[in-house]
Amino acid sequence: RAKQERYAGYRVFESAMDESMRARRALETDLRRALALREFSLVYQPQVNLQSRRVAGFEALLRWRCPRRGPVSPLDFIPIAEETGIIGPIGEWVLRTACRDAASWPGDYTVAVNISAIQFTNRSLVATVVSAIADSGLDPRRLELEITESVMLDARGNALAVLQQLRGLGVRVSLDDFGTGYSSLGYLRSFPFDKIKIDQSFVREASDDRGNRAIVRAIASLGASLGMATVAEGVETEDQLARVAADGCTDVQGYLISRPIPPGEIEHFLAESRNVIDAATEVSL
Ligand code: C2E
Ligand code: MG
Ligand code: MG
Ligand code: MG
Repeated sequence: RAKQERYAGYRVFESAMDESMRARRALETDLRRALALREFSLVYQPQVNLQSRRVAGFEALLRWRCPRRGPVSPLDFIPIAEETGIIGPIGEWVLRTACRDAASWPGDYTVAVNISAIQFTNRSLVATVVSAIADSGLDPRRLELEITESVMLDARGNALAVLQQLRGLGVRVSLDDFGTGYSSLGYLRSFPFDKIKIDQSFVREASDDRGNRAIVRAIASLGASLGMATVAEGVETEDQLARVAADGCTDVQGYLISRPIPPGEIEHFLAESRNVIDAATEVSL
């Protein structure tokens, strides 16, 4: 009888596996069509420099509205796009679109583009960046590429060479979600990043966790001594803003300033940004 139950349990497990495999396949099928059917769009989230209290730039964030599923989070579809290689053409579309959008902005704001580890290991990344810059006419110094620590592990010896080629073009490179991966402080010394983005989890939980706050402070101070800017991600409240400012972060990004906005609203946001930033920083800075 025990054997029978085990067998039944296994069958349940097996059909659950089938189910999730089918769901992944279906998502993959929809994802493959999404680019051609123009289902992707970009939204832009402002980054504010705390010293100047001005908008420094915007991070491009990918959105997918599938006609059948509705909006799908990048947290759900990017991993599948990476596993299946679809991230290649999607990532190129993001890069080209973000450069073109940024070239039309009324000011020399930077545009930050997320680059997945798969793209980074691909030989064509540098060529694609060169071509996106040339086609859009964007000043390469206005382009920032955000990569995560996993890139440094995946790309092995090649990562440093790619980083140096990109920086040779004038492009800036940020280390995203710092503190969540297999963080090694050694990366910061060996790789020439311009900016460290401190993961939201440290910013968010700082209120009730002295340990997180100590981490933010340590990263900000390390960044300062290495000549790197430090961005606090996911700042939602005035309290959090006051803390990360006191802890030495140079820039902030988060819902307190603005949620990511569609490209058509950027001009309006910029026109209002003085008031928005003053209101957000009134109490805390
Ligand atoms: P990320 O690069 O760390 O982007 C920050 C994420 O935090 C974004 O989520 C943003 O909307 C969210 N966020 C910003 N401020 C706040 C806040 O105050 N509170 C909260 N709760 N969230 C905030 P999103 O747009 O869902 O993107 C999630 C992740 O998907 C990104 O994390 C990035 O890793 C990936 N991703 C997004 N677009 C792209 C892309 O074009 N290419 C690649 N390879 N990855 C992308
Ligand atoms: Mg990012
Ligand atoms: Mg991040
Ligand atoms: Mg992230």
